[in-house]
Amino acid sequence: MTVEHRLEDVRTRIAQAEARSQREAGTATLVAVSKTFDAEHIRPVISAGQRVFGENRVQESQGKWPELKAETQGVELHLIGPLQSNKAADAVALFDVIETVDREKIARALATEIRQQGRNVRLYVQVNTGLEPQKAGIAPDETARFVALCREELGLEIEGLMCIPPADENPGPHFALLAKLAKECGVEKLSMGMSGDFETAIEFGATSVRVGSAIFGTR
Ligand SMILES: *Cc1c(COP(=O)(O)O)cnc(C)c1O
Repeated sequence: MTVEHRLEDVRTRIAQAEARSQREAGTATLVAVSKTFDAEHIRPVISAGQRVFGENRVQESQGKWPELKAETQGVELHLIGPLQSNKAADAVALFDVIETVDREKIARALATEIRQQGRNVRLYVQVNTGLEPQKAGIAPDETARFVALCREELGLEIEGLMCIPPADENPGPHFALLAKLAKECGVEKLSMGMSGDFETAIEFGATSVRVGSAIFGTR
């Protein structure tokens, strides 16, 4: 199968999952995760009409996306990997959405950069729904307090919540927990679901799914 066929297949499966969950068509946005793939592999996906992409490293993204963005109208780039505060300026300059706001230090660095650069970057708080020690993210029971701090003290608009469930667990309960937290915090968007579980995530209310290998192939 070509990358165009795989993209089409993922789009069809998203539409079917939306229909199964009585959701309006197009309410789950596909974020095509292009990490580790170079510009040459990404261009056919752009040509096939995809405009929303996810990357997990700032430096890697700086090597390919300025050029790809310059070539194409309407590309929206999401940072879905951990952010160090010394990379906050670069991230704010390049990304349209940062999904991995996961601690106060990074929230403060982003607030400063967004003010200085005057860029309208949309932000998500990453929640560690499985309380995994090796994984980034705010603990579920601290999410409301952290979102309030970002909004009230730092003046950041938090648009959504994001999670990566533990690899070896049924993801459903994690998606349900993220949806419940979003409701409690008054947050509209839910970034959840990857190649292995995006249809389940849509059934639990995902407004965007981050799909890499099902489109680009194995990394
Ligand atoms: C790599 C990655 C994805 C995509 O994973 P696939 O299993 O290849 O679809 C999604 N979210 C995050 C945070 C990632 O790092």
